Amino acid sequence: MFPKIDLGELERYRVRPGGAVKLADIDPRDDKGLPLGKAEAKKARKADIEALDRLQEVLYAEAKHALLVVLQAMDAGGKDGTVRGVFGHLSPMGVTATSFKKPTEHELAHDFLWRIHQATPPKRMIGIFNRSQYEDVLVVRVHKLVPAAQIEARYDAINAFEKQLAESGTTIVKFFLHISKKEQTRRLQARLDDPTKHWKFNADDLAERKRWDDYMAAYEIALARCSTPYAPWFIVPADRKWYRDAVIARIVHRTLDGLDMAYPAEAPELAKLRIS
Ligand code: AMP
Ligand code: MG
Repeated sequence: MFPKIDLGELERYRVRPGGAVKLADIDPRDDKGLPLGKAEAKKARKADIEALDRLQEVLYAEAKHALLVVLQAMDAGGKDGTVRGVFGHLSPMGVTATSFKKPTEHELAHDFLWRIHQATPPKRMIGIFNRSQYEDVLVVRVHKLVPAAQIEARYDAINAFEKQLAESGTTIVKFFLHISKKEQTRRLQARLDDPTKHWKFNADDLAERKRWDDYMAAYEIALARCSTPYAPWFIVPADRKWYRDAVIARIVHRTLDGLDMAYPAEAPELAKLRIS
């Protein structure tokens, strides 16, 4: 279950269950949730990551919980950067990261959650989803890849799936990295201008970009319908990378902290052992 925590000013980024979402009204450069300058935000992120590193060890030792972090964004929205900037400092032994691409024929022959379920983190682990089950109500909705009635049923299916994960010991936290179309222009142009970034560039990204408004509409529905007490969505202002990383590091830190984990009880039999 998601712990009962008060994130203070950062609560402004949590999507209220049942509430409506209007992305055009949310500033991708907002900094009211963590009103620090760049240097201070970087320091705060560092401190939060150090705390996360300690909590990760307890998560592993206690073996009661798993943490699933879902990252969604438009192309060049910063998903890869977030994985590196927030989770790249943790022990690789405790983290799994999965990118979900266009489903293979084999994956498409199953229900849409089949490939997702296999990648969920087991107890002790932090699992990061770079794209997720939400693609099945985002790109699939925008391109009408399956009949509308099926897409309609998927929101409830996702909520039921996440509820069952939560009830089985997985804490779920979901971040939509909210960038402006202007910032996407800048980042895609930077990729084109830098030959070492060409591998990240996909001509399809330009076609998707033309459907920006359709994507925003699809996101608004998904964020509104699938932000729940057990698997909340956060809309993170993401035009500035340092702000995005600081916010996510803080929310993940507070979330793990809220689980009130502890190292396993002392084992009295160990106290008697002598290492010769
Ligand atoms: P990237 O994350 O840039 O490597 O691109 C992965 C691509 O796979 C994106 O264009 C996604 O929209 C697409 N994708 C991921 N999941 C699905 C899905 N379930 N159905 C269709 N396309 C998907
Ligand atoms: Mg891409």
